[in-house]
Amino acid sequence: MHRVVRSTRRPATIDDFARNIASVRARIAASAERSGRDASEIRLLPVSKTVAEDRVRLAVQAGCRELGENKVQEAKRKHANLADLEVRWSVIGHLQTNKARDVAAFAAEFQALDSLRVAEVLDRRLQALGRSLDVYVQVNTSAEESKYGLEPADVPGFLAALPRYTALRVRGFMTLALFTAHTPRVRECFRLLRTVRDHARDTDPDLIGPGELSMGMSGDYEVAIEEGADCVRVGQAIFGARTTANDLYWPTPTKE
Ligand SMILES: *Cc1c(COP(=O)(O)O)cnc(C)c1O
Repeated sequence: MHRVVRSTRRPATIDDFARNIASVRARIAASAERSGRDASEIRLLPVSKTVAEDRVRLAVQAGCRELGENKVQEAKRKHANLADLEVRWSVIGHLQTNKARDVAAFAAEFQALDSLRVAEVLDRRLQALGRSLDVYVQVNTSAEESKYGLEPADVPGFLAALPRYTALRVRGFMTLALFTAHTPRVRECFRLLRTVRDHARDTDPDLIGPGELSMGMSGDYEVAIEEGADCVRVGQAIFGARTTANDLYWPTPTKE
């Protein structure tokens, strides 16, 4: 299932990227205004997965100061090859424990924390390197469509176990909404993440730091902002349509 992505023309110059970024920012501002929010408080995380390094350079020159990558291998390569640029790298995809050491070495942020085993490996490595890492706890808000992320009911216990990993700085929660063009179902996912956050805030606010919500992608970031997103992760609307299938990045129950 593919959702509509408005900008599919492939940007090829710094100006093209600047235009796409400006257009996404304008939409963010409009959504913020609609919901009585301050657009300056909403963070745009451009997602550069599958984008070749020469084009990533153009996007950085057009103003991207941080980039999200789903896969550790690709993120690590880009971090190394683009080391001359000032970019903050965010890993936003599911992580296996054997890749956690890599993430600890170069990432500024990890948005898909859903296992204590991964938390432990990350923490141990970060302590050894004298680094810390911003993390978001990934929650599965679309039960039937994706197996990554914690079930909402498991979040309180998970949060309670995190303080022992002192190199991890919890920033809040991350989710992927259902992949459907049916906006009310998408909205429900975002609302559920907000409910999870509000519950955590009411019961033990110290466990979630600022308690931010990372939700919304090219096809649904405006809805996410209306539902309280503090960070939107936008790839295709900035970099152009991807040709790779989504199920390379997260599991889907049926292939189409
Ligand atoms: C690819 C990806 C995004 C961005 O998706 P687009 O459709 O390119 O905007 C957001 N979040 C995660 C976890 C991703 O893997």
